[in-house]
Amino acid sequence: MCGIVAAAAQRDVAPLLIAGLKSLEYRGYDSSGLAVLEAGRIERVRAKGKVREMEALYLARPLPGGTGIAHTRWATHGVPSEANAHPHIAGKVAIVHNGIIENYAELREALIARGHQFHSETDTEVVAALIGEQVDQGRRLREAVMATVKQLDGAYAIAVISEDEPGHVVGARYGAPLLVGIGIGEHFLGSDAQALIKFTRQMMYLEEGDVVEISREK
Ligand code: GLU
Repeated sequence: MCGIVAAAAQRDVAPLLIAGLKSLEYRGYDSSGLAVLEAGRIERVRAKGKVREMEALYLARPLPGGTGIAHTRWATHGVPSEANAHPHIAGKVAIVHNGIIENYAELREALIARGHQFHSETDTEVVAALIGEQVDQGRRLREAVMATVKQLDGAYAIAVISEDEPGHVVGARYGAPLLVGIGIGEHFLGSDAQALIKFTRQMMYLEEGDVVEISREK
């Protein structure tokens, strides 16, 4: 189980997300990545190895945008690789996930039967696909996350963004930690206080089964 940082802010969030991931490096990980939402489009950068390797790709092609999610991965399902690194994208949504989805194989089979194509070996991509499917059907992201987590067995902390909802990040947790960081005109999610302490000292621990939506204002 590794690290999550997410933000909804007035300023570009990618540098904040990278700084947050660097504070989580002490936990160990095999790959990292981030996704930013700008002008209704999700852009992503991922790399195997150290956060600075992902950062080098980002610096070569900076991703502006005030809404984003980021992750350091400790592989449980699928080898450490760029394709298995988070965020995972399905339709209009991108997701980062800490933990293990125990029933991912049956969920994956059902999604394949409905025509979904997978691009990684992770359990996480199943969660992306379920949320993406519902957003495609017109559900709000928060509702799609609430309906999806009901189908999951296992442990998760997740952060999700949707091209339909710039300025918003939805998180959920069960069996893995997730905190909200409360800033001025900006809000954060993190798997660990270390990830957020550079941005705010005001934090709120989520409880088991909580779903949370953050925006710049609230
Ligand atoms: N089970 C997920 C994967 O293998 C998440 C691992 C983690 O917690 O970093 O990609």
